[in-house]
Amino acid sequence: MTFRKIIKLVSVCYIVISALPVSAQMMSAQSVLEDAAEAMGGLDRIRGVDSLLMTGFSQTLNQDGGSSSSSHPKAPKKWAAQNDVERYFDLDDLSAYQTHRQGFLFPFALAFGHSWAPSSQLQEGANALNHPLMALRAALASSTELGAVSIEDDNIVVEFTLADDTVLWLGINQLNKLPAWVRWMGAHANLGQVTYTTWFTGYVPFDGVRLPNGFTTEIDWRENVVSVFHVDSYELDVELPEFVAGGGGFGGGGSPDVVVTEVADGVWDLRVGSNGGAVVEFEDHLLMFEVYGNEANSLARIDVANTLVPGKEVTQVILSHHHFDHSGGIRAAVSRGLTIISKRENEGILREMVSRPAPNFPDALARNPQPLHFIPVDEHLVLEDAMRRVDVYEVIGHMHMTDAVFAYIPEERILMQGDMFDIGWDWHWWGGNYMDSVEHFNLDPITDIPVHGRVSTLEEVITNIGSQVSAAREFCARDLAIGVYMAGCPVKYSRD
Ligand SMILES: [Zn+2]
Repeated sequence: MTFRKIIKLVSVCYIVISALPVSAQMMSAQSVLEDAAEAMGGLDRIRGVDSLLMTGFSQTLNQDGGSSSSSHPKAPKKWAAQNDVERYFDLDDLSAYQTHRQGFLFPFALAFGHSWAPSSQLQEGANALNHPLMALRAALASSTELGAVSIEDDNIVVEFTLADDTVLWLGINQLNKLPAWVRWMGAHANLGQVTYTTWFTGYVPFDGVRLPNGFTTEIDWRENVVSVFHVDSYELDVELPEFVAGGGGFGGGGSPDVVVTEVADGVWDLRVGSNGGAVVEFEDHLLMFEVYGNEANSLARIDVANTLVPGKEVTQVILSHHHFDHSGGIRAAVSRGLTIISKRENEGILREMVSRPAPNFPDALARNPQPLHFIPVDEHLVLEDAMRRVDVYEVIGHMHMTDAVFAYIPEERILMQGDMFDIGWDWHWWGGNYMDSVEHFNLDPITDIPVHGRVSTLEEVITNIGSQVSAAREFCARDLAIGVYMAGCPVKYSRD
C-alpha cells in the first residue's frame, strides 16, 4: 500500500466517522441542556433572567383548522390575526401572560370577531413553556426530572417531566446547540389529544441572551400549523403586570344544566345555555340534532333525552356540519354507540376524529372505544317509520359551510338547523341560504329549532335575517369609508 493510498483510506475513515450522528446514549440530558444554555448566553446569564417581555404580531388557525367551509384536508383555512402583542414571561414562576388585539381574517357573524378589542390570556403549565428561555429554565429546574436523550433529524431531544407530571421534549440543534423546538401534549375535545411542537427560528442576541425572532407551532393532525409569531422586540428583566385569568372558550366546565322545551308532540328542544337542538321521537328510538360544544354538554343532553320517553333512547345524531364547535361532542356520541348522520363529505373528518387515541387525557371515547357508524346524506335522506318522518337535506348556497345538512319534519312543519340562522348573530354574511334551501326543496316550515339561540317562528327568522344582512352591509360601508377592506365585504345576498 502506497503512502498516498494510506492517506486516502485514513481520510475516508475520518469522513465516515465524523458524518455519524453523535450517539444519543453518549450524552447525558444535563450536559445537552447545559450546552444549550451556553449557546444561549451562558448558564449563569440564563438563570439570572427574572422576566422577559416579547412584543410582536401573530396569526392563529381558527379552531385548529376545524372551521374551514369544507371538511376536506386541503380546504382553505381560516386565520385570526393578533396585533400589538405583548407576551410577558415570569421566569421564576414559569407562567406567561399575553395581551393583544385580535381580528378574524374571515367574515365572522359576531361583532367581537372584527372589533380588534384588547384581550388577554394567562398561560400556565406547558402552555407557558413554548419559548426557549422558559423551556430551558423549566428543564433545568431542580424539581424537574430529566428523561431519555434521543436524536430526531438534526436535533438532540431531551425528555423532561415537571413536578406536576407534565412531560415535554426539547429539541436542541446539533450544530449551533440552540433550542430548535419544544413539544408537549394537550387534551382536545374533537381530536382526543394533540401533540404540539413549537419551532424557534432566527436567534438574535439581546442583552447577552440569544432569543428567537420566529415561532411556528404545529399539531399532529393534518400537520396543521396552528400559530405563527413574529417578534418585534425583547426586553429582559422588565416589571411584570398582574397576570389575571381571562375568559374560557365555548362549552365551559362544571355539570351543564339542560333546559327541555316541548315544541310539538314527540319533539323537544334540549339546550345548554344558548346552544343545543331538537330531539325527535320515533317508534323505537330518539333522534338528536347536533352534539354541540364538548363531551360534558353533549352527554348531558343525551342523558336528559333518554328520560323523555320510557324505554326509548337516543340512537342517532344529525351533525349539521363539521366545524369543531358543532362536532365537539362527536367522540362522546360515538362512545355511546350512536350513529352519526351527516353530509357524505364529512365521513373522512369524522373517522379522523373518532380514530385518534387519547391515552394521556382519556375522554369518554378513550375509556369506551367504539367504531363510527355513519349514514351519509347526499341531496336528501328520509328517516321514516310508522310513527315519524324526518327529511334530511343538504344546505343550499352556504359559503360558511359547504358540507352541511339540515332536517325537516313535514307533519309538524319544523325545520332543524345549525348556522343557517342564529337570532344572536350581529351580522349574516350568508343570509340567502335559509330561504334558498327551503325553496329548493319546496318546504313550508313554520317553526325553526336552531343549534344557536332559541326556538323561533319562520317570520322571526326571515325578519332577523333581513336586519342581520343590512347590519353586515352597514359594517362594510363604515369600513370602506375609512379605507379598510374587510374579508366578506361587500356582502353578497342572493335574495335582494
Ligand atoms: Zn355555529
